[in-house]
Amino acid sequence: MDDCNETIRELEAFLDGSLSEDGHHAIHAHLEGCSDCLQAFDFQAELRTVIAAKCRNDEMPPGLLSRIEQCFNEDFDGDGRIG
Ligand SMILES: [Zn+2]
Repeated sequence: MDDCNETIRELEAFLDGSLSEDGHHAIHAHLEGCSDCLQAFDFQAELRTVIAAKCRNDEMPPGLLSRIEQCFNEDFDGDGRIG
């Protein structure tokens, strides 16, 4: 997998663990040779860790999750809507 856009698109499934084994290897292979995608990957992985930790400790400042969701256009808190 040499295409950066393809790799970024698969990132979500990769982090969710829902990617096929082939896809997994392809992402790994690409990340080893592409620092841009590796950075994007690190950022996403770290963001998820931070969000999970904050949600667990119930320390998320009001509105922060909504702002993050709007940045990524993604429903992190699972309430079916962005923001
Ligand atoms: Zn790349």
